[in-house]
Amino acid sequence: MDNNFTIYNSLTRKKEPFKPLHPPFVGLYVCGPTVYSDPHLGHARPAVTFDMLYRYLTHLEYKVRYVRNITDVGHLENDADEGEDKIEKKARLEHLEPMEVVQKYINSFQKNMEELNTLHPSIEPRASGHIIEQQELIREILEKGYAYEVNGSVYFDVLKYSKKFKYGKLSGRVLEELQANTRTLEGQEEKRNPFDFALWKKATPEHLMRWSSPWSEGSPGWHLECSAMSTKYLGEVFDIHGGGMDLLFPHHECEIAQSTAAKGKESVRYWMHNNMITINGQKMARSLGNFITLEQFFSGDHPLLKQAYSPMTIRFFLLQAHYRSTIDFSNEALQAAEKGFQKLMKATETLDKLKPSLASSIDISSLRKNCYEAMDDDLSSSVLLSYLFEGVKYINSVSDGTEKLSSNDLESLKSLFNVFVFDILGLKDETAGRCDEKLTDDLMKIIIDLRQDAKNKKEWAASDKIREELKNAGIILKDLKDGAEWERE
Ligand code: ZN
Repeated sequence: MDNNFTIYNSLTRKKEPFKPLHPPFVGLYVCGPTVYSDPHLGHARPAVTFDMLYRYLTHLEYKVRYVRNITDVGHLENDADEGEDKIEKKARLEHLEPMEVVQKYINSFQKNMEELNTLHPSIEPRASGHIIEQQELIREILEKGYAYEVNGSVYFDVLKYSKKFKYGKLSGRVLEELQANTRTLEGQEEKRNPFDFALWKKATPEHLMRWSSPWSEGSPGWHLECSAMSTKYLGEVFDIHGGGMDLLFPHHECEIAQSTAAKGKESVRYWMHNNMITINGQKMARSLGNFITLEQFFSGDHPLLKQAYSPMTIRFFLLQAHYRSTIDFSNEALQAAEKGFQKLMKATETLDKLKPSLASSIDISSLRKNCYEAMDDDLSSSVLLSYLFEGVKYINSVSDGTEKLSSNDLESLKSLFNVFVFDILGLKDETAGRCDEKLTDDLMKIIIDLRQDAKNKKEWAASDKIREELKNAGIILKDLKDGAEWERE
């Protein structure tokens, strides 16, 4: 655990050496998705970024408890506590029970995350499963005097809080500006100040998701779940809180205020935020028609896509940029990523076949040092990839005989590629699955030929047996004039 890992802390706005509170244990909390639609490229970026962080911390021999929540209640259409709950709205439009909507999109999120080769978090808690913890936190904030109840709803008193603590320390926003810029929306008149935010909202009669509470039948405010669940699973003070830059305000700012108001101290030691993805220079939005889901990327089925892009091409594309830089999507950029990824995979295959020499003409130890320095420097995956491509050059030069590697150095280069390409960047060879497909095709051709032989010899029992056994295995044979076709059931 002796390491030089530094991370950029959004709170102090500088790079800091990473020193966990209770080494070797590390608490990592990441804001997960609100599950009301199919995952898109914007979901892939935090997932891949914090997966890389999780993998690197684990590689550095920390014991990481990685908590990523699922928001299944409380996230309203706009961030100012108004509008319909996003999940309820979807349920109404699709004629589903809200929890059916939740399950449907949890399933698609988890499927896409597996395709992107992200590791499962240690815990994936859901907001609706932690209503009691959230109510308990509201009670604490009320007791400390930083919240007030109006008509069965409870709001956080930002003005009162800011007299003792600094509201806006993460986002750099100041109260006067907020006051001037926050419109008083319809239905907001319960709040003492427009910048106050809801901790508990009383349910309207048509509201489907509701729980009883000391204040009213209703549902928790969106920001509350992350404060309640991070405290429950990681303690009152924990190491790293991550999420997308779009969550910095108001979501994370409000999380800080809630925890500080309730416990009198800050809960998060390092705040990390990944930057956003634009499409041809524009923000991604349904209304702009440039909203592309991950399934659409994988199938190529979207008017803006010139071809399908595999999950590893998407992962490689995201890793090519530093997580704090914006990324602009274009077909050209993804095609370049696909080429780069394939070149890297081809080199790992070549590496496996290299023969050692008696001595080396290349220095592997400096390459190793550079790779670690890149990751230690706030997860600079883009720099790491440039060093790995230096390694690709070495591999190709050794393969064509212009350079040499001793058997020790060859082993060291193999382990370096294994660690950085597969374990830390989380890339994987996608051709392995395709080989199985080809093998199945070849085997089916042999079986169909054997059955044709049996039929030619009028051995009907044998030919029927083959057909039956294949059917049991889920494969349907269709006889044609010459030979047969097969398909999966
Ligand atoms: Zn959150």
